[in-house]
Amino acid sequence: MIPMSSPDIGDREVDLVSFVIRSGVLASGSGGPMLRRFERMIEDFVGAKHAIGVSSGTAGLHLALLAAGIRPGDEVITTPFSFIASTNCILYAAALPIFVDIHPTTFNIDSSLIEDAITPRTKAILPVHIFHQPCNMDTILAIAKEHSLAVIEDACEALGATYKNSQAGTLGDLGVYAFYPNKIITTGEGGMIVTDNDDYAALLRSLRNQGRDDSGTWLSHVRLGYNYRMDEMSAAIGLAQMEQLETLLAKREQVARWYTEKLGELSSITLPWTAQSTTRNSWWVYVIRLHPSVNRRRVTESLSDLGIPTRPYFPPIHLQPYMLERFAYRSGMFPVTERVGASTLALPFSSIMSKQQVEFVCANLEEVLQ
Ligand SMILES: *Cc1c(COP(=O)(O)O)cnc(C)c1O
Repeated sequence: MIPMSSPDIGDREVDLVSFVIRSGVLASGSGGPMLRRFERMIEDFVGAKHAIGVSSGTAGLHLALLAAGIRPGDEVITTPFSFIASTNCILYAAALPIFVDIHPTTFNIDSSLIEDAITPRTKAILPVHIFHQPCNMDTILAIAKEHSLAVIEDACEALGATYKNSQAGTLGDLGVYAFYPNKIITTGEGGMIVTDNDDYAALLRSLRNQGRDDSGTWLSHVRLGYNYRMDEMSAAIGLAQMEQLETLLAKREQVARWYTEKLGELSSITLPWTAQSTTRNSWWVYVIRLHPSVNRRRVTESLSDLGIPTRPYFPPIHLQPYMLERFAYRSGMFPVTERVGASTLALPFSSIMSKQQVEFVCANLEEVLQ
């Protein structure tokens, strides 16, 4: 049985977590010493002025929207081809997600459709760097500037990916990374917000810590806050992971290369496509597209019988049951998202996958497709 994804954890993670547990400082309201070290490593790596650790990528997106001043009734432009959290965070802020369809080869927001979606109530654009590939940020930032919109990057799948040599997550007003065990690096549960804006950073540190102010007075709450803190054990894992980020990214790239070498010949699939503006892919997943004539469910089931898991990343968000109940969405509204969502197949992928495992997956996929 090959796992769908795996964290890449070693002795250094174990040592740092043991150190935290023995130290007795397991969590801290204003940010413990391990969290500060982890945040500094992210700041240095991506080149952001501030990194604010939080309890998940989802929590980070929620707080990023609040820091950007998103209020009930505001509209936020995003895509329905994503993991559910990039839309849910907008609903948490009682704002309205306004979907724009995706580009058929990058699966990212189609920037040529954004301006048509802007109304007087639009306050922000939330581009998702899907599967590790940065969005067309030059166009998105130009539109945002012209219409005075905030840009919040969902970089949860894209730590280490670069757009024209700039780090994904650092191009907009705020960016968010996620550290669930299937992401580029892990902390168990966890996330990180990055921004160059001092006011946002101060507000985010208060919002994650029950709305306490900078003075650190324990029972004084100056605003409605949340408990979205990252604990010290998680931060210790994250610090150890950051120390080897370059190695992790290189290993992921190698696994992707093995897949591309093995699958290049198959005519009934399309391989991941890298845009010219993508100067580095972080390779969160390896997602192929099946030819429309291929029955995806049959492929998934046949591979599953052979111990090879796959995932249909991603079913369109606007067609999820709770979205259909709440909004007047129907199929056909976002045709590219729906077409892509019906034909993608994520193959098992991680930095610890061996060449033999990749070859096993590819040989069986080829057979199933015949
Ligand atoms: C994983 C992910 C998130 C949420 O991260 P969690 O840490 O699981 O809350 C948000 N957006 C995208 C695109 C993701 O892939």
